Amino acid sequence: MSKVPVNNLKNGFELYKEELENKALEVLRSGWYILGNEVKQFEKEFSEVIGTKYCVGVDNGLNAISLGIRALGITIGDEVLVQANTYIATVLGITINGATPVFVEPTEYYNMDPNKIEELITRSTKAVLVTHLYGQATEMKKIIEICEKYNLFLLEDCAQSHYAKYDNQMTGTFGVMGFFSFYPTKNLGAFGDAGAVVTNDKELAYKIQMLRNYGSVIRYENMVEGYNSRLDELQAGLLRVKLKHLTDSTKEREYIASRYLNEMTNPLVKLPRVAHLATHVWHLFVVEVTERDRFREYLASQGVDTDIHYKTPPHLSVAYKRLGHSRGDLPITETIVDKIVSLPIYNGMTDEEIETVIAAVNSYEK
Ligand SMILES: *Cc1c(COP(=O)(O)O)cnc(C)c1O
Repeated sequence: MSKVPVNNLKNGFELYKEELENKALEVLRSGWYILGNEVKQFEKEFSEVIGTKYCVGVDNGLNAISLGIRALGITIGDEVLVQANTYIATVLGITINGATPVFVEPTEYYNMDPNKIEELITRSTKAVLVTHLYGQATEMKKIIEICEKYNLFLLEDCAQSHYAKYDNQMTGTFGVMGFFSFYPTKNLGAFGDAGAVVTNDKELAYKIQMLRNYGSVIRYENMVEGYNSRLDELQAGLLRVKLKHLTDSTKEREYIASRYLNEMTNPLVKLPRVAHLATHVWHLFVVEVTERDRFREYLASQGVDTDIHYKTPPHLSVAYKRLGHSRGDLPITETIVDKIVSLPIYNGMTDEEIETVIAAVNSYEK
C-alpha cells in the first residue's frame, strides 16, 4: 500500500521543473543576488494580483509581521488583539516589538470572532491582527467597523490565505497592511524562506523598505535603526514562476477540498465549513474528531499521514509563560485544539491519493 503524505513539497518543484530550473540558472548567471530586478518585478506582480499599490519583499513571514508592527510604532505598553488559535509566529511578530498580545477566541470557522473583540479593547489597544487561518478569509465586515470606531490599525496575517477573498475582496487589502509568508509549504511557496508586506500606504511601504535594509533605501543614508530582512533574487525569481500558476494551483486545492467535502460522510468526523461571503483556498483541510489519537492511528494504518495545526495554542506555550495564562482562559480555543486534525492536501495529489484519504476517513469506526 502506498502512503499518502500530509504534504508533498517536491511536487512544488516537479510540476514546474523546467521553468524553475531556467529561472534559477538565469539568476545565478546574472551576477546580482540581493535586492535587484527579480525582487522589484516580484513586488510589482504580487501587488498587482493582490490589488494593493505597494508590496515590499522581505525574508520571511514572521519578519513581515514584525517589521509591519515596528513601522506603525507599536511597542512596549501597547496591546494588539490577535486570534488565540493562530500559529505562534503571528504572536511573535507582536512581542518582538515589546507589545502585548491580547487573545481573541475564534468562531466555528477558526477565524477571529468579530463578536468577541470589543470587550477586550482598552486604552492601550493599538491594532487588531487577524489571521485568515487554514486559508479561509475572516468575516471582515464587523471587524472593520470596530477598527474604525475605536481608531485601531487593522492588520492581516495572510500567510495561509493567498487569493482567499471576503465579499469579493482579496485578503491583505482590508487593513493598513497585509503580511504574507512564502515558506515552502504555503500556497505560494518559495524554495527557502521568503515573505512580503502589502499596503496602499506609500509612507508605510517606504518605512518597510528602510527597515528591511539597515534603515536605508538610499545607499549609505541610514534613516532608522533597521534590520537585515531582505528578500533575495533567487527566491523572488522562483516565486515569480510559481505566482504565474497560483490561480491554477488554488483551483487544484479547491478540487481536492470539494471531493473531501462531498465524499466524506463519516458522522464521527466534523468537516470544515465556509462562512457566508468568505472563500477558502485550502492551505490546510482541518477536521475535528473526539478521539483524535485513535483516529490518527487508524488513518496511519490505512496509509494516510495526518498532522495537527496547532497542538498548543500560543497562550499555553512555554515561550509565553510570562503572559501568565493558564488552561481555561480561552476555552473555545482550548477545546478546538484538542480535536483538530489536518488531512493530506497538496498540489500534484493524485485522484488515487484523494480516494485513499476519503476511504480511510469513511471507514473509521467507533
Ligand atoms: C507560516 C506562518 C507565519 C510565519 O511565516 P514564516 O515565513 O514561516 O516566518 C506566520 N503566520 C502564519 C499564520 C503562518 O502560517
